[in-house]
Amino acid sequence: MNTLFVSPSYRCNENCIFCPRHKISKLYKPIPLDIIIKSITDAIEKKSIEMILISGGEPTLYKDLTTIITTANQLNLKIGILSNSLKFADNNFCKTFIDTVGNNFELTTAFHSHIAEEHDKITGVKGSFDKSLKGVYNLINAEVRITIKYIINGISFNKLPEFIEWVYNSFPDSVSLVLCNMDLCGEALNNSNLAAVPFNISKKYVENALDVIIQYSKKNRLRNVSVFNTPLCCIDPYYWTFLRKYESEESMAALLLPSIENQTNPIIQYGLKGDGGANFSPCTNCAVKNICPGTWRKTAEYFGNDIFKPFK
Ligand code: SF4
Repeated sequence: MNTLFVSPSYRCNENCIFCPRHKISKLYKPIPLDIIIKSITDAIEKKSIEMILISGGEPTLYKDLTTIITTANQLNLKIGILSNSLKFADNNFCKTFIDTVGNNFELTTAFHSHIAEEHDKITGVKGSFDKSLKGVYNLINAEVRITIKYIINGISFNKLPEFIEWVYNSFPDSVSLVLCNMDLCGEALNNSNLAAVPFNISKKYVENALDVIIQYSKKNRLRNVSVFNTPLCCIDPYYWTFLRKYESEESMAALLLPSIENQTNPIIQYGLKGDGGANFSPCTNCAVKNICPGTWRKTAEYFGNDIFKPFK
């Protein structure tokens, strides 16, 4: 699906040690609303985009977020939002938001651990686990489509099967679940001692986590579960049916980001090369290259080509 990726602002109410942005980017000027609206109509005209994915920073801090969503709805775009859901913990904020834009959007919230202290340590905000959880529950009650995302990280990866149990015990099966590997850029690269987990080390925990999911599905607990940014050669073929590839890894139809130059308004970019895929030199002659999701380019650079084991 042709998608416009928009970060209205890099401002955030968390301070995650794995943030793919550098801390300094939080100081960039938010994108003026009229530029975002013009970019949406431009992207529909030039690239026939069908979806807008709004991220950040934290998009709920952007004061005109509801106008972006309302406009996208009027233009019949699918809408995805990446949010930490902290602000939705406020019942009044959540109600006013839903009353304004409706509930026809998908919202993804990352939990970095099922242990509140661990999650808070990663976000740098005490109480953020409880607040994000309350925000997600408020959105579920408003019948918003929710995805819980877990980014494999050096602090909690070895408790991933327990994290899965927590998801199944905490959220209805209508809530989707995404497990993904980390894009080692921005602060994540600066804090790689805490963030980076080699694929051969995380493999056992990811596979055990997927075993838990398979066991649940046998008991008719059916949930939409996907694993992203994981090369086929880094996981047993038994689990390949869970693997997916983000459209943005190979290419991006349209992208609008805040400008580094605070005096300059940003310009929408088209047809960009993505940040990932299975494009590494060991992949060249690999037998499964065409169906492999690969991983983030920066993550592969960090670990080196030895992580890849091409299939003959
Ligand atoms: S070598 Fe490359 S194409 Fe082959 S499975 Fe590994 S990442 Fe995928």
